[in-house]
Amino acid sequence: MKILISADMEGATGVTWPADVLPGTPQWERCRSMFTSDVNAAALGFFDGGADEVLVNEAHWSMRNLLLEQMDERVQMLTGRHKSLSMVEGVQHGDVDGIAFIGYHTGAGMEGVLAHTYLANQLTGVWLNGKRASEGLLNAHVVAEYGVPVVLFTGDDLACEDALGYAPEARKVAVKDHVSRYAAVCRTPARTAAEIRAAAKDATSLAVRHAPVRGEDFTVEMEFDAEHLAAAATVVPGAERSGERRVVYTSETMYECIRTFKAVTTIVSAAVEEQYG
Ligand SMILES: [Zn+2]
Repeated sequence: MKILISADMEGATGVTWPADVLPGTPQWERCRSMFTSDVNAAALGFFDGGADEVLVNEAHWSMRNLLLEQMDERVQMLTGRHKSLSMVEGVQHGDVDGIAFIGYHTGAGMEGVLAHTYLANQLTGVWLNGKRASEGLLNAHVVAEYGVPVVLFTGDDLACEDALGYAPEARKVAVKDHVSRYAAVCRTPARTAAEIRAAAKDATSLAVRHAPVRGEDFTVEMEFDAEHLAAAATVVPGAERSGERRVVYTSETMYECIRTFKAVTTIVSAAVEEQYG
């Protein structure tokens, strides 16, 4: 049995503000080991539950955050960026039985610690087929297309609540309780590691591949915090203006949908100016 872990940092133990997750800052250096502790605990729990293989896919920022040297020796880790499926890279080869979303967070414009969707601040809302979308919701639709269930989820309490909507079966561990976008009541890494490990062990039985889900067309609408960003986004074929600060596009598959999403966010980030946005 093979488990894939998609590891994001904003929803990790102890993390509550931008410097905690921005590569190169002293706070980020400190938080890396708490992030690693969450991911390693999940891996240990999956091995406890009978998994043969655990592949960790780094999904935060430059995708170089986790400390490989602090992980269980059975773990394999995909580090670095430029991957076809980005946050859920590795799910497409037909050998993954279940996926864990570790350190996830709520979406752009939503309440939650460090809430955002891909872009830290420029997106104020994302909707998939009319439903408010977090990264977790988008990625859950991608992995469903490959028949892989989401079995474990960790993040703040509001992210866990959000995950109930798209991965109701997944075991969930809230590593902190939301107070504001930049504040939370945090639990210690020792405590969250124990809880994550137990939940992962329990979640292993959920890791059973199902028939690939082929849904209807996927329509994504994105709202930006400035008009020129919507204009910039229309460079991407298929992305059309749907409002002063909005674009919309439709894809036949989630594979295509998430890749277009990535294209739009990449183009848009290049159009952001330091002071005026
Ligand atoms: Zn994220």
